[in-house]
Amino acid sequence: MPTPTCCICQSATLINRQNLRTLTALAGVLDVLLREYSAQQRKQSSSPAPWTHVGDLLTVLSDAHAFRLEGQAQGRTLAANVERYWLGEFDSLCLSCGFMLMKDAPPD
Ligand SMILES: [Zn+2]
Repeated sequence: MPTPTCCICQSATLINRQNLRTLTALAGVLDVLLREYSAQQRKQSSSPAPWTHVGDLLTVLSDAHAFRLEGQAQGRTLAANVERYWLGEFDSLCLSCGFMLMKDAPPD
């Protein structure tokens, strides 16, 4: 699938409803993972041995399925808000120049 580009500024920062949902799901999963990792780090000593953080991160990732589900739900909520308050009736928004596009009308 080609990267959608803005017809005004030619930037590859055009976001439509489909890639919005993918990006917000990814952001949600990353947020949940980082919050859990951060919470675990606060419980640990302040001067860890080398490689301790990598091991801790892998431990957190062992529960990836739960993080994925929680993060996707978080992402769906964000996507719904962006669609409602930013896109409205439009289908695409360029994050670089702010141009908004309507969905192409089907041929008659
Ligand atoms: Zn643009």
